[in-house]
Amino acid sequence: MKFRREFYINGAWVPPQGARDWQVLNPSTEEPCTTISLGDQADTDAAVRAAKAALPKWAATAPSTRAAIIKKIIDQYGKRREEYAEAISLEMGAPIDFSLAEQAACLPWHTKNFLNAFESIEWIRPLGAQAPNTAVVLEPIGVVGLITPWNWPVNQIVLKAIPAMLAGCTCVLKPSEEAPLNAMMFAEFCHDAGVPPGVFNLVNGDGAGVGAQLSQHPDVEMISFTGSTRAGKAISRAAAETLKRVALELGGKGANLIFADADPRAIKWSINRMMENSGQSCNAPSRMLVERAIYDRTVKEVTALTEAIKVGPALEAGSHIGPLVNMRQWEQVQNYIKKGIDEGARLLCGGLGRPEEFNRGYFVKPTVFADVRQGMTIEREEIFGPVMAMIPFDGEDEAIRIANDTPYGLTNYVHTNDAPRANRLGLALKSGMIEMNRKSRGAGAFFGGVKQSGRAREGGIWGIEEYLESKVISGFRFE
Ligand code: NAD
Repeated sequence: MKFRREFYINGAWVPPQGARDWQVLNPSTEEPCTTISLGDQADTDAAVRAAKAALPKWAATAPSTRAAIIKKIIDQYGKRREEYAEAISLEMGAPIDFSLAEQAACLPWHTKNFLNAFESIEWIRPLGAQAPNTAVVLEPIGVVGLITPWNWPVNQIVLKAIPAMLAGCTCVLKPSEEAPLNAMMFAEFCHDAGVPPGVFNLVNGDGAGVGAQLSQHPDVEMISFTGSTRAGKAISRAAAETLKRVALELGGKGANLIFADADPRAIKWSINRMMENSGQSCNAPSRMLVERAIYDRTVKEVTALTEAIKVGPALEAGSHIGPLVNMRQWEQVQNYIKKGIDEGARLLCGGLGRPEEFNRGYFVKPTVFADVRQGMTIEREEIFGPVMAMIPFDGEDEAIRIANDTPYGLTNYVHTNDAPRANRLGLALKSGMIEMNRKSRGAGAFFGGVKQSGRAREGGIWGIEEYLESKVISGFRFE
C-alpha cells in the first residue's frame, strides 16, 4: 500500500488541513515504518460533515443493497490479505503467520457473521397481539465516531465499522496512531467495494486531538470505543455534554480456573491463549487459578511450556511471539515485572530486560509468577504483556471469590470435567463472557464485558443493535 499523510473523507484521500507529522515505528526494529498526519479540529469537522451529508441517503438505502456492498469488502480483503497482514506486523509487531491467520482473518469472519445476523432484523414489527396498531421501528442512530486501539486493530475496526454501516449509520473512524496502516487499507477496501462517499471516513489522530473532538462533537450521535479504561472514562466525560450514546470495550484481568479434574490439554491451551499476541489482548487469561491438589505439578508444567516459547521479529515466519507495540508499553510491562518481584511473588521464568538475543526492539521475556496473592499489583492490574500470575485455590467457592474480586469483568475461563460444576461456575462468574473447557464462543456470539471492562456488545445481532434506535409508532396501519 501507499503510505499516506492524507485522510479518507467523502470518498477521496484529502490532505490534512494542518499538517502534524507522526512517525510510526516498527516495534521489531525501532526503525520508522511510516509517517502519517495527526488531524485537527478542521479535519474532524470535515469528516463529520461528510458523514452527516451522506446519512439520509445511506439510511434510506434498502438493507439488502447495504448488505450487498458490505459483502464486497470481503472480496477486497481476499485480493490483498497478505499485504494487509504485513501492514499489521510492521506497525504493531504481531508475527506474520499470526497476523495472516488470526489478526487479518477477523475481517471475513466477523463480516460474514454480521451479514448472517443482519438478515433476521425486523425493521418494522407489531408490538404484539394486544396492540395490533402499534409498530416498533428500528432506525440507524446517525453519524457514529469509532475510536480503536492497536492490539487487535482489524478486529476492532471491523467489529465497529461493519455493523455501523449495515445498520445504515455513517461513520468516522479514528484508528490508533500506533497502527494506522491497516486502517487506511480498510478505507481502501471500502472505497473499492463501492461504499458511497461519506458513509465511511477516516481521520488519523491522537486521543487528545481527533479522539476528543469526535467524543464532543454535536453532530456525532454515538461513540464506540475500544481501549484503556482510562480513555473510556475520558470519552464518557467528553460525551456527556451532548448526551451521545457511548459503547465501551475496555480492559480485562481474566481468571482462568483450572480444577484438578481438568483435561490435561488445558494447561498448554492456557499458556498459548495467554502469550499469543505477546499478551496484548484484553481477554488474556492473565490470572491462572489452580486447584491446590495439582498446583505444584502445574507450576512445573507452566514453567516448561513458557520457557519453550520463542520470541522473534514480526516479519519472520513461525509460531513465535513478537515484540510489544512501543517503548511505553515495554516500560510499563517492565515496571509490572519489577513490582511482581518487589511485592514477593515467585518468578518462575522470564523476568526483567529483553530476551538475550535482542539488543533492540520492544521484546519481552514470557514471564510467569507463582504464589501470587490477592491484592498484589500484578494480580489487580491489566499488564498487557506476556506476564501471567498463578494463584492456588481450595474448592469452588474460593475460586469464584478470587475470580470475581476484580474491577474488571470481560472473559473468565473454566477447566473441569465435572459438567454440573462447569455450569455452576459459568453462571457464578461475573463477566460478559465465560469460555469453558477450551471452547471458543460460537459464530455470531457477542464480545463484551461488565463492570470496568465496559458494557459494549460487539459481534452478531447485538453488535448491529448497538447502532440502531428503536421507535414506537401507535396508530400504524400494517398492510
Ligand atoms: P488508549 O486507550 O490510550 O488508546 C486507544 C485508542 O483511544 C487510541 O485510538 C487512542 O488514540 C484513543 N484515545 C486515547 N485517549 C483518548 C481520549 N481521551 N479521547 C478519545 N480517544 C482517546 O490505549 P493505549 O495507550 O494504546 O494503551 C494503554 C493501555 O490501554 C494498555 O496498556 C492496555 O492496558 C489498555 N488497552 C486495552 C485494550 C483493550 O482492548 N481492552 C486495547 C488497547 C489498550
